[in-house]
Amino acid sequence: MKIAVLKEQAPGERRVAAVPETVKKFVGLGATVAVEAGAGIAASVPDQSYAEAGAAVGDRASVVANADILLGVQGPDPASLAGIKQGAWLVAGLNPFGERARVDAYAALGAEAMAMEFMPRITRAQSMDILSSQSNLAGYKAVLDAAAEYGRAFPMMMTAAGTVSAARLFVMGVGVAGLQAIATARRLGAQVSATDVRAATKEQILSLGAKPIFVENVAGIEGEGSGGYATEMSDEYKAAQAELVSSHIAKQDIVITTALIPGRPAPRLISAAQVASMKPGSVIVDLAVEAGGNVEGAVAGEVVEVGGVRIVGHRNVASRLAADASALFARNLFNFLSAFWDKDSGRPVLADGDEIGDAVRLTRGGQVVNARLLSA
Ligand code: NAD
Repeated sequence: MKIAVLKEQAPGERRVAAVPETVKKFVGLGATVAVEAGAGIAASVPDQSYAEAGAAVGDRASVVANADILLGVQGPDPASLAGIKQGAWLVAGLNPFGERARVDAYAALGAEAMAMEFMPRITRAQSMDILSSQSNLAGYKAVLDAAAEYGRAFPMMMTAAGTVSAARLFVMGVGVAGLQAIATARRLGAQVSATDVRAATKEQILSLGAKPIFVENVAGIEGEGSGGYATEMSDEYKAAQAELVSSHIAKQDIVITTALIPGRPAPRLISAAQVASMKPGSVIVDLAVEAGGNVEGAVAGEVVEVGGVRIVGHRNVASRLAADASALFARNLFNFLSAFWDKDSGRPVLADGDEIGDAVRLTRGGQVVNARLLSA
């Protein structure tokens, strides 16, 4: 049973899908592990550390050859997997909606592609959830990125030279990333408020010591669909939300947006007119920029300035904390594979009908088999 750890090829991707700790654990389960040379460099893990953990280190062809399971952070270019073993598992964040052609190519290669972002949001799968582990770090980093762009301090400071007032920071979208953004901004001393379409988040906002900003008394208020995800909101709700946000946003120094709707473009939460209503020197961080953006004028991979307001659109924010992001991602993959480890055959077995397997498996036997993807 051979596990291959691929070096990421996507531009700007610094993470790696296994760290020495998880390599040791796989070896402890009886697997052999082969790591592509240089796979961990950008996450501060030298090849030597993998070797010391019990892995072989080699080039891509040697790592892929005869591998039963290939681990990646993002989906590899199918062309780089030539010679892959039939039925080998490819376990990574495969961006199935955004990279549909690749999914078809993995099927054609005979791989069983497993998309970790399709992990169901059930208690049993919490420790396997890459979206949570990575969003948590992205929410933290978004606040630091905002602080770095902001030409003022976050906390109130009473000094001999006078008082510096606290920054007002507004978080839009209170999922995993938003909650961490609130907590981080509070620790830095900002005055924090937050909003979401899911009413359940109000309590969570309050429990972190922030102020909830919510649309009340509008039809379609609930906003929570299956698995705790947001749904697309009614036009009436969107109009009420835009009005509330308009008045609130003009008073903010920092806005962090995190709103996503799975399988759809990110909802537009801030218009160009609302950006223009903010004071010069204000900062907006759009964590949804790669999904189309919550903020009009945000550009993926850039920090743009519009009327003195900086709009930060870093791509792949979790990768900006590559060492921790890799460690958590690697544990998510290990937790997934080890939970299904069959001691007799010395490999993971995902029975048909298992909620987790059915959710994450995209391809098998040359076909795309994932219900969610096929119905999209
Ligand atoms: P997400 O990344 O899909 O979206 C971020 C947030 O944006 C969500 O809170 C969403 O409600 C919000 N949003 C969407 N449209 C919006 C709009 N128009 N205006 C304002 N906000 C909007 O969300 P997430 O971080 O993945 O979390 C979604 C839920 O799933 C949370 O309740 C989270 O606790 C839960 N969750 C459960 C598990 C588990 O049980 N294994 C794992 C992770 C997350």
